[in-house]
Amino acid sequence: MVEQTPAISLRGLTKSFGSVTAVSNLDLEIKSGEFFSMLGPSGSGKTTVLRMIAGFELPTSGHVFLDGEDVTTKAPFDRDVNTVFQDYALFPHMTVLENVAYGLRVRGVGKREREAAAVEALSTVRLADFGGRKPSELSGGQRQRVALARAIIVKPKVLLLDEPLGALDLKLREQMQIELKELQRELAITFIFVTHDQEEALTLSDRVAVFNQGRIEQIGSPQELYERPQTPFVAGFVGTTNLLEPQDTQALFGKAIKGSIRPERIKLTTQNSVATHSGKVIEAIYVGSATRVHIKLDAGPEVTALVLSGSDSSESWSRNQEVQVVLNEKDLVQLETK
Ligand code: ATP
Repeated sequence: MVEQTPAISLRGLTKSFGSVTAVSNLDLEIKSGEFFSMLGPSGSGKTTVLRMIAGFELPTSGHVFLDGEDVTTKAPFDRDVNTVFQDYALFPHMTVLENVAYGLRVRGVGKREREAAAVEALSTVRLADFGGRKPSELSGGQRQRVALARAIIVKPKVLLLDEPLGALDLKLREQMQIELKELQRELAITFIFVTHDQEEALTLSDRVAVFNQGRIEQIGSPQELYERPQTPFVAGFVGTTNLLEPQDTQALFGKAIKGSIRPERIKLTTQNSVATHSGKVIEAIYVGSATRVHIKLDAGPEVTALVLSGSDSSESWSRNQEVQVVLNEKDLVQLETK
């Protein structure tokens, strides 16, 4: 099979601001049609990478390729990409229709043609009847959809989204996540999505790159990152976990490695026959769908188990209660020590 040219290829990309290295020698390939997320804590360099792909920022060294072409020094408007910003950046004095048509207007497309395209883009984001309004007459979610319509009207090969749902409340955010995913499937455009919200990245993406201090710690599908994190940082940032030091795994499984066990993998039981370990409840925190039970194991380590409400072992656990625990070595994921 012939390898397809990647939609985006970053080679040895570095960006320094004075003494701060925001992005450090980054190599990355993103496939055409992929929903790719850059996930990481604040300051880890995600936005700087996005800005270099968009052309708003010149790399200190390294190259940006779009569809095989080196665009490192090209201006933003000479690249076949478009960006959706968190603050929408809509023009307040223009109507929604004019906002959406703007990208075609600056490209010299005639009024009738660009308005027809704007109507179509607005109906794609389910705002067909809102063209005559001003941005101030819309809700946050509607404004975000206008920003999307404005970005897709020029049919870019790649759409860059910088925390586009960051300003929305949780319910709306979840609704927009579904819409974004549907839109991406429908348009078959490559989406590059920046977020610090791990759940959002896992929900939306084909693949996720986890950023830490200007570097990528791990790239993988949501499932790979969650089930097989390679480093303590990824294990702790993507979901919550029990990070175990070599002395802990030695005490629990008789082998000294740095490892991670997800809380939902730890079972609590009252049947001594299936238990592998015993311990005492330090704290049990009810969170509605589940209870987080912190346990001091008799073997030494402290761990957290997540017990789903309604499951067999969801009785109310209380402080200082003796508890039997099932800990399987197969659920222990070995992590790299740096
Ligand atoms: P956030 O989620 O908060 O946006 P981020 O992961 O996108 O964070 P960046 O915005 O890429 O991180 O910033 C990476 C580092 O580069 C930070 O230490 C930041 O302070 C620094 N930085 C970014 N832009 C500039 C700039 N124009 N001048 C100086 N330093 C900058």
